[in-house]
Amino acid sequence: SSSMAKSKFEYVRSFETDDSCLRNCYIVVRLDGRNFHKFSEQHKFTKPNDSRALGLMSRSAHSVMAEMEDIIIAYGQSDEFSFVFKRTSNLFKRRASKLMTHVASQFSSSYVFHWKEFFREQPLLYPPSFDGRVVLYPSNRNLRDYLSWRQADCHINNLYNTVFWTLVQRGGLTTTQAEDRLKGTLAADKNEILFSEFDINYNNESAIHRKGTVLIWEKRDETVTKRVKLPNEEEKEVPVTRSRRRVQDHHCDIIGDQFWEEHPDILED
Ligand code: ATP
Ligand code: ATP
Ligand code: MG
Ligand code: MG
Ligand code: MG
Ligand code: MG
Ligand code: MG
Repeated sequence: SSSMAKSKFEYVRSFETDDSCLRNCYIVVRLDGRNFHKFSEQHKFTKPNDSRALGLMSRSAHSVMAEMEDIIIAYGQSDEFSFVFKRTSNLFKRRASKLMTHVASQFSSSYVFHWKEFFREQPLLYPPSFDGRVVLYPSNRNLRDYLSWRQADCHINNLYNTVFWTLVQRGGLTTTQAEDRLKGTLAADKNEILFSEFDINYNNESAIHRKGTVLIWEKRDETVTKRVKLPNEEEKEVPVTRSRRRVQDHHCDIIGDQFWEEHPDILED
C-alpha cells in the first residue's frame, strides 16, 4: 500500500524478474487438470467421455473469456484448455505470471463454483487444481500449428479411449487385456476393431468428443424490450436491437483451412 511505498524495504521489489511477453506474439495460456486420471475416477466420470465434465470445462472457459479481455479463441479437450490472447494485447502489461495465474485461478474457481450445475448429486470431494503455462507464437502459421497439435492430440487420445472402453464395456475385456490388445496398433487398426467387432463407425461418434471444443466471439443482434416512459405519455414497451459480443461453442475441425476462412477476423495480419 502507499504507506509502504518509500520504506527501506522497498528495494526487495527489484528482485522481481521481468517476465513480460515479447511484443507482437500471440500469448497462449494452456491449463491442464492436476491428476485428473484419479480425479475422474473418484468423481465417477463416465468413460471414455463424461459430458458433465466436458460441459463444466467449457463453462469455466466461458467464464475466463468473459473476465479477461483480449482472448480471441480458446480450445479445450479432456482436462485441458488453451486460451489465445491477441498479439496486440497489453493486458497486465503482458506479464506472463499475471496472465497465467489469473486465467488459472478464474478457471479453477469457476470449475468449483459451477460444479453442482453439471454434477448434481455427485459431490465435489476436494478442491481440484490446474497447472498453467505460457507459450508465445510469433506467426499465424505457428499459432494454427499449435491449435492443430492440440486437436490432433484430442483425436489420437479419443480414438484410443473409444476403442479401449468399447473393448472393456462391450467386449468384456479387463483393462489390462484391452491395453495389451491395443499395443502397437495404428489408427486404421483401431477403426477396424470398432467397425468389424462392434459395428461402430468412429466418424459417427459425436463431434465434441472427436474434435474438442472451440470457443470464439460472435456478434449477434440481440433484441430486448425496454420500458420507456416519456413525460406526459403512457409507459410503453419498445424493442431495442443492439449488436452484442458473445462466446459461442464449436466442435469442428480447426486443422484445415475452412474454419479460418469462415472466421477471417480471429487472426490478425
Ligand atoms: P488489484 O486487482 O490490482 O490487486 P485490488 O482492488 O485487489 O486490485 P489491492 O491493492 O490488492 O487492490 O488491495 C486489496 C483491497 O481489498 C484492499 O485495499 C481492501 O480494500 C480490500 N480488502 C482485502 N482484504 C480485506 C479485508 N480482510 N477486510 C476489508 N477489506 C479488505
Ligand atoms: P497430470 O497431472 O500430469 O495432468 P492427469 O492424470 O491429469 O495427470 P492427463 O494426461 O492430463 O493426466 O489426462 C487427463 C485424464 O483425465 C484423462 O486421461 C482421463 O482419464 C481423465 N478425463 C479428463 N476429462 C475426462 C472426461 N470428460 N471424461 C472422462 N475422463 C476424463
Ligand atoms: Mg488485489
Ligand atoms: Mg493486495
Ligand atoms: Mg499431463
Ligand atoms: Mg491433467
Ligand atoms: Mg490433460
